[in-house]
Amino acid sequence: MTDTAERSQSTDAVDEVRAWLEENWDPDLTVAEWWERLGLSGWAAPGLPTNAYGKGLNRNDSVAVQNAIAEFGALGAPGGLGLLLAAPTIATHGTQEQIDTMVRDIVTGQKAWCQLFSEPGAGSDLAGLQCRAVKDGEEWIVTGQKVWTSGGQVADMGMLIARTDPDVPKHQGITYFGIDMHQAGKVDIRPLVEMTGHAMFNEVFLEEAVVPDANLIGGLNNGWAVANTTLMNERAGLGSGGGHAAASSATPGTVAKDLERRAGDFVSSAGPRRRSGGGGGPAGLAGGYKLLVELAKGNGKIEDPSIRQDLMKLHTLNELGRFSNWRAKAGKAIGHEVPGLPNISKLSMSEIVRQQRDVGLRILGPLGTLHAYKPEDQETLNEATGNPFTAMVTGMALFAQAPPIYGGTDQVQRNIIGERVLGLPKEANNDKTAAFRDLPKNA
Ligand SMILES: Cc1cc2nc3c(=O)[nH]c(=O)nc-3n(C[C@H](O)[C@H](O)[C@H](O)COP(=O)(O)OP(=O)(O)OC[C@H]3O[C@@H](n4cnc5c(N)ncnc54)[C@H](O)[C@@H]3O)c2cc1C
Repeated sequence: MTDTAERSQSTDAVDEVRAWLEENWDPDLTVAEWWERLGLSGWAAPGLPTNAYGKGLNRNDSVAVQNAIAEFGALGAPGGLGLLLAAPTIATHGTQEQIDTMVRDIVTGQKAWCQLFSEPGAGSDLAGLQCRAVKDGEEWIVTGQKVWTSGGQVADMGMLIARTDPDVPKHQGITYFGIDMHQAGKVDIRPLVEMTGHAMFNEVFLEEAVVPDANLIGGLNNGWAVANTTLMNERAGLGSGGGHAAASSATPGTVAKDLERRAGDFVSSAGPRRRSGGGGGPAGLAGGYKLLVELAKGNGKIEDPSIRQDLMKLHTLNELGRFSNWRAKAGKAIGHEVPGLPNISKLSMSEIVRQQRDVGLRILGPLGTLHAYKPEDQETLNEATGNPFTAMVTGMALFAQAPPIYGGTDQVQRNIIGERVLGLPKEANNDKTAAFRDLPKNA
């Protein structure tokens, strides 16, 4: 498809959603009522297929729609891992009945999801997971430990992968389930506080937790293929130049208690209200650069030639990310996927956040040693230092260690590029032939 044809398709979708918003946006609805309207209309997740509460739009059009909703000043779609990961996975591998229950609850914000993949001994080597699920009548009984579970403390449901057959090679004995997180005494969620001061992720202990057989997604022992759909969607949302779809500022699900609040209270006339910053999440790649330029102008560091050079390096990395994104788009349009490009984009994002961290701290100077962990303290810190960006820059610097790890570490991305793009030999092992039971275990 040509660029002009693609642009006009985006414009059509944007015009259509604007017209729909004129008719339907009402700030006096509760968040639950608004998300019900938005989700069932297909505009909450327009990238999903039409049988799964979407409109079958491509990624660029979907992002254009999310931006149009934000620009209109309406509350955006329920954010989080449900919409980003669980919904496209269930839409691809689930039955229509699973789509009609689980995906419906996601697009309408009724339920929040988390991703129960990593374990203490299974991160990069995810297929080495040891959490077990054993069939008991019409139920599965799950026992094991998960870790780094982002948003677990506000989740209603979890994307769970568990071992269902230890007697076959490790990739073949895994099954994918949707698990109810509200099981007192059986699902224990313990928040882990990061060095940013936030407790974004958790460790989750599963002790004979119950999953109905109806929640098995994509077939028994086919969980590796299903999990790869989740991971593919995760990576697509991560790389540099990718840009996240505008996330909602209200939290989906029953735990956060935003559903009964007034939808209009989450937006302002200038667009959706953002939660107070300081976490320095990945949303700010291009925004991070602009913020640092403002910061350097504000405190005179912009005159320092080495700071200017570092800022230019950051700008260049951002631009390269943007161009790589265009390249991927152009390749896709002619049916040619550029091998390894998603992995290169992910690596490039790691480089950008490290550069942001380093130049940000250089611009702040000694103030960079101060960090406030709570939003109210962040305001005090900004006031005390006379600099409105102090807490944001230190938050960004502390968070910079995370992107090179999540969604597959930098080293793992390099392995993939080496083996699948450059054709280097794989490390010798018997993973594909030996039964999981007979393999050496990490923990
Ligand atoms: C902010 C954040 C959020 C996360 N959210 C979630 C979540 O919601 N759900 C979830 O399931 N997980 C989540 N994770 C976990 C994440 O996917 C894992 O941390 C990641 O896959 C790495 O696994 P690990 O921590 O076990 O490290 P390990 O796999 O133990 O790796 C340790 C080190 O060894 C290196 N290494 C490992 N294997 C190789 C190899 N073959 N070759 C070369 N080097 C290697 C790694 O690169 C790393 O440097 C999150 C992580 C972070 C940081």
